[in-house]
Amino acid sequence: MSDTQPDVRLRDTLGAVPAYKAGKPAPPREDLVTYKISSNENPYPPLPSVLKTVQDAAGRMNRYPDMSVRELTEALAARWGVTPDEIATGTGSVGVLGSLVQITCNPGDEMVYAWRSFEAYPIVAALAGAKPVQVPLDSQARHNLNAMADAITDRTRLVIVCTPNNPTGPSVTEDELRGFLAKVPSDVLVVIDEAYLEFVEPDHQIDALAIYRDHPNVCVLRTFSKAYGLAGLRVGYCIAHEPVAEALRKAAVPFGVSDVAQQAALASLEAYDELQERVDALMTERARVAQALAEQGWKIPDSQANFVWLPLGDDAMAFAAAADQAGLVVRPFDGDGVRCSIGETEANDRLIEVCEEFLNR
Ligand SMILES: *Cc1c(COP(=O)(O)O)cnc(C)c1O
Repeated sequence: MSDTQPDVRLRDTLGAVPAYKAGKPAPPREDLVTYKISSNENPYPPLPSVLKTVQDAAGRMNRYPDMSVRELTEALAARWGVTPDEIATGTGSVGVLGSLVQITCNPGDEMVYAWRSFEAYPIVAALAGAKPVQVPLDSQARHNLNAMADAITDRTRLVIVCTPNNPTGPSVTEDELRGFLAKVPSDVLVVIDEAYLEFVEPDHQIDALAIYRDHPNVCVLRTFSKAYGLAGLRVGYCIAHEPVAEALRKAAVPFGVSDVAQQAALASLEAYDELQERVDALMTERARVAQALAEQGWKIPDSQANFVWLPLGDDAMAFAAAADQAGLVVRPFDGDGVRCSIGETEANDRLIEVCEEFLNR
């Protein structure tokens, strides 16, 4: 740091912005292969067809991308049965989420979401100067939608429902969500964050798009980062009714979604059947891990996403250290629990071992 302190005045609200704790890379070791299971990434490498498209697009990086993201927007609209006007893309769904706060919240307005949930929520709230209203999860680590409805005030502008919930895993039911929406004032925007949509078991799936069609104040947030395996390219989108989607497009970073990202997302939509096989394999692995942990005596929430949650409370950091020893980088939340992504088979095997040893320590 330089010794001259600038007089520049920064916004007070920055003091309220929590730092994003990104999963650190797994440090290489000589004695064993290490795995990063801290960021819910897709462990599979890119599909050859997607990689080829990206390589071709890389040859055009001297040009700006298509600012209107036309081709991808049209492909998404066709895929989900909406019009292109109802789609807004962004630099990852977190990028779109930042815009959602910008277009709804003036400083001091309230943003309601469950807690613990996705750690980006308090960050985007604080950045906009919005007041985060965090409603505790219930005893099953599920959204308490009744309490969330009660938390809505005259100042509430935005509500987020994260389903399945990161980092705990359970999803909300369609009945619960519809019952909740019936209580939300029609001028409050409700975001259904479905980052893990593709990992939900059939009997837990909800039709968020049907709910969206029934409610002009609902929008659906989705990403290419998880099931589609494009976390590093930053592309996500929101399905929103026209005035909201239009506002999102106004608020987006110009040219934010690169041509490489646009092309990769298009190619991934086309290759979805191939990607689905990988998602199915990850779901099978999730069931295997959950079953093994249950047999060991762990009581973990029913995860519908590509991770499991260990409600370890004050032992969270000790567990993370034990996992580290075994060559696994997990994501601890001090005093609360540990989130472990479903990764390579070997990583999952090792997670099961670490869990067993930790219980018997
Ligand atoms: C991973 C995740 C996202 C996606 O983030 P991107 O910015 O699209 O990579 C969004 N919401 C939740 C709850 C997540 O866990």
